[in-house]
Parts: sequence; structure tokens; C-alpha cells
Amino acid sequence: MAFLEITDATKKFGGFLAINAVTFCVERGARHAIIGPNGAGKTTLFNLISGLILPTTGSITLEGKRLAKKKPHEIVQIGMARSFQKVNVFPRKTAFENVQVALIASRKLQYNPFRGAAELFRDEIMELLEQVKLGADSERRAGELAHGKQKQLELAVALAAEPKILLLDEPTAGMSIAETLSSIALIRDIVQERGITLLFTEHDMNVVFEIASTISVLHHGEIIATGLPQEIRVNDDVQRIYLGR
Ligand code: ADP
Repeated sequence: MAFLEITDATKKFGGFLAINAVTFCVERGARHAIIGPNGAGKTTLFNLISGLILPTTGSITLEGKRLAKKKPHEIVQIGMARSFQKVNVFPRKTAFENVQVALIASRKLQYNPFRGAAELFRDEIMELLEQVKLGADSERRAGELAHGKQKQLELAVALAAEPKILLLDEPTAGMSIAETLSSIALIRDIVQERGITLLFTEHDMNVVFEIASTISVLHHGEIIATGLPQEIRVNDDVQRIYLGR
């Protein structure tokens, strides 16, 4: 049994086939990239895998458990966490509080601000914030942090649920070159250290080749190749279709 298995998944929007008979596996511990030109279907595939939308046909399983019809919190509970292209944190809460809310939600606790909740999980929160290099920013409001730091905070929020697999949709979108470089190193180190499987989409090929251990190429809703980075780099179809050579 593969860790994450996508079998013959299809998604139609009206008469338009956005995802067409997609089959591939993500191995446990892999850093698996989905690449492809704009409109190839990357976001749709991600939405299917994270249960945000249902496949028209086909199945998606994590450790043999079907993901279809599961609610977002159930998907988190079976070990999947996801971040989106657009930053998704509570801007008026501090970095500390953002991680705290995530921890409270993942442990299924009731949030009660009048019963000493402010200190709840302090050590764990600070450890997570330090891991994403935000230890010094814990009391700053998320909305006041630079874009790159907001993405780091999002990573801490995702890690709070102790996922087995982390889905990152264009993790370096909108970042400066310096932010991109430090973000790549951070993501790679954290997933390796914690033994988390990573599935990510990315349009920046430098980022892809820095992080990925496996790459799948999506084109017009179909997977046209899956392989090691060095195989994908020299694949004729990929060069022609994706890299425009
Ligand atoms: P990518 O992320 O690779 O740029 P998308 O998954 O966003 O590609 O889109 C794939 C195709 O599906 C595009 O042609 C897009 O217009 C279409 N599409 C995506 N979502 C919808 C939707 N909700 N309704 C209709 N068409 C959609």
C-alpha cells in the first residue's frame, strides 16, 4: 500500500475536464513536487487531494483511508495539513496566538480566554515558532509581519497539527529572492527533521530542484511524467511542453 495514492482521479467543471484520469503515488518521506504550466490543473489536483473538492470519478487514499467526503477537520485528524497560495493567518492575532489557536483546534479543546488560556501550550508554541525562525516575533500581530514571515507562521500553524503529510501550494509565491532561499532551506530541514512527507506545487523550477526528491509533471490535466529530478530535467516531453525547449 502506497502512502498517498491517487487512482484514476478525474474532475470535471461542467463539460471541462480539468483533471483527467490522474494516477500516481506519493511515497512516505518523499518531497514530491507537482509542476506544470499555468492552467495545467495543479491547484485543482491539490484541492482534490486535500478534500476541498470531490473528484468526479476515482479515489484518493492516505494510508488506505479514503479522503472523499471527509470534513476539513477530519482530514487534519488523519494526518494531512495544507497551506494555500494566499497567506491564511489571523492578521489581528499575534504569531503566538495563531499557533495557539491551531494547537487548541488540533487537540479538540474548547477555547476559553477567561480561564488562563493565554499561557496554554506556551513551551510547545515557542518551540514551533523558533523552529520557523519566528521566536523573536511571537508577540507581533501576524498582519504586521513581512510576507515571508507570514508564510513561516503559516508553516508553524500547519505543523501544530503534527501532520504526516504537508501540502504546500506554491510555498515561495510572492517572496523576494532572499526570502525564497531561506524559506526553501527551512521547509526542507523541517520536513526532514520531523519525518513529514511533503507534497508541493511550484512554478519556480529552481525551488523545485532544490527541494524535490520526486517530480510529477501535469499538462492539460494529465500526469505526463513522474520521476527523479535528474530524470525530469532531461525528459524530452517535459522540456518541450513545460520548459519550452
Ligand atoms: P493551475 O493551478 O495549474 O494553474 P488550475 O487547477 O487552477 O491550474 O486550473 C486548471 C483548469 O481548470 C483551468 O483551465 C481553470 O480555468 C479550470 N478551473 C479551475 N477551477 C475551476 C472551476 N471552479 N470552474 C471551472 N473551471 C475551473
